Amino acid sequence: MQLVARPIELHLTDPFRISRSVQHSASNIVVAVTHQGLTGLGEAAPSSYYGESTETVLATLPRLASELGDDPFQIEEIMARLQQVIRLNPAAKAAIDMALYDLQGKLLNVPLYTLLGISAQRTPQTSFTIGLASPAEMARKAQAAQAYPIFKVKVGTRNDLENIKAIRDVSNAIIRVDANGGWTPKEAIQTINALAPYGIEFVEQPVVAHDLAGLKLVRDNVAVPVFADESCVALEDIPRLSECVDGIVLKLMKSNGINTLLKMIHTARACHLRIMLGCMIESSLAITAAAHLTPLVDYADLDGNLLVSDDPYRGVTVDAGRLVLPSAPGLGVQPVDVMH
Ligand code: MG
Repeated sequence: MQLVARPIELHLTDPFRISRSVQHSASNIVVAVTHQGLTGLGEAAPSSYYGESTETVLATLPRLASELGDDPFQIEEIMARLQQVIRLNPAAKAAIDMALYDLQGKLLNVPLYTLLGISAQRTPQTSFTIGLASPAEMARKAQAAQAYPIFKVKVGTRNDLENIKAIRDVSNAIIRVDANGGWTPKEAIQTINALAPYGIEFVEQPVVAHDLAGLKLVRDNVAVPVFADESCVALEDIPRLSECVDGIVLKLMKSNGINTLLKMIHTARACHLRIMLGCMIESSLAITAAAHLTPLVDYADLDGNLLVSDDPYRGVTVDAGRLVLPSAPGLGVQPVDVMH
């Protein structure tokens, strides 16, 4: 198999602010893996929080490419080899994993959901994310996003109550909140209890990733379900998190791609955890790959492509909030520039 990689730049419609950072664009990498005249596509959305950058992905991919072998169906073998060549680097591995699944689907002429035995009819609704801004600006964003029945609102600041009030004043949508580790356990308990009367479905990552005792303390002292995102990266994180939280957030880019995510989904089920599938700022290429797995989980937060103004791919669509999977072979993703 031959691998080619190229960087792509995605520009955000609005600056995307969370409790620890602000982002104006995303420098992602598209990977093309070719075998027997067919090409599978994958995407890496590196995150500095998880130790990756455009540079680390572009430097790592050639080392991984030499381990691909000549059978794209040997995904278990291939992913195990990639893990031995270099640890971590999850987005680089996710791009290859995604391209291999796309290639498998194209070689068999079936969509990924069929290849995995998943019903395309069971996709959930996705939330739409509202980043941190002034209360008036967050209310404006909520009004502009009326087509979405679920909002994921970024919190983890001093103004959380004001911000949520402002959104609630203009919208009856379901609201989930994500602090990205921005609170101490004490702040989390106080703020979540103050936010609860506004109708909060669940809260993501109230305290820093390593503070599992803090997660448990928060969970034991609030009435809103608590989910772990940054605390949940590897398969072995899941059993210990089941003692501390009600649910977990899984993402292709922090966990090496589809193959590992499937294992994490089943492990989380065995631990009685609820599951949300989330994303980074990604084009429709990676978002569609994740969307194929959503019939297996409880909640979807797959809106990274909806926040960019120059998405170079078309794949999954959203109808009244619900994810609609494409039925073309593999991921079912097409570049925008060859569609006309
Ligand atoms: Mg999150």
